[in-house]
Amino acid sequence: MRKVYLLGTGLVLIFLAAWGLWEIGRSRTFQVFGEIVPRVETAQKLVALTFDDGPVPEATDEILAILKRHDVKGTFFLTGAELEANPELGRRIALDGHEIGNHSYTHQRMVLKSMSFIRSEVERTDELIRKTGYQGPIHFRAPNCKKLFLLPWYLSSHQRRMITWDLEPDSWPEISATSEGIVGHVVDRARPGSIILLHVMYKSRRTSMESVDGMITGLKGRGFGFRTITELLQTTNSTEKARTL
Ligand SMILES: [Zn+2]
Repeated sequence: MRKVYLLGTGLVLIFLAAWGLWEIGRSRTFQVFGEIVPRVETAQKLVALTFDDGPVPEATDEILAILKRHDVKGTFFLTGAELEANPELGRRIALDGHEIGNHSYTHQRMVLKSMSFIRSEVERTDELIRKTGYQGPIHFRAPNCKKLFLLPWYLSSHQRRMITWDLEPDSWPEISATSEGIVGHVVDRARPGSIILLHVMYKSRRTSMESVDGMITGLKGRGFGFRTITELLQTTNSTEKARTL
């Protein structure tokens, strides 16, 4: 009887540990080491538009044209493999003054992987980003937001933050079914310092691409301005400085 009880307790503990690790591994707001940024603490009405994956020929010029028309700078989290296949597109993103972030080389989940795999995924992509001519800081965003111990450890030991998001309209099929759904979701929920995640690079995500125009107009109508991730992070420092002066 006692053995059965111990076995049961052991199974429950294993289940709870696995569940806890799974939750930590997918959390947008918590990681074990270093800093994770789902939103920037700022009093200013500023948000960051961030675009994951790519660059690919089907979409890059289109999104660059939309952003140029509105005079908005965004942050593109590119994968090394796609950048290596389309170096000219990376150069165009850099030339238009957007920020480029690192979204790994192969877009694999960065859990249960060796440190040498993680290092190679990040550093190969850093090198390709520098070849675009982009000169600013290179922030990192994990594919599918997956991380456990080694990736946060690697980033924090290189003084790099993990950038996630607080608004992800195209993660929900009922919201992303129409571009109006995406626009409404973001315009209603944006807060000062919000980081908005959009996937605009693939044909399967047409509603995301088609939402950008209305989203920018709607957010500007609510008094929001647009910044890159690096610029948004600097507003935290500037407000803190202003408070201590
Ligand atoms: Zn991605």
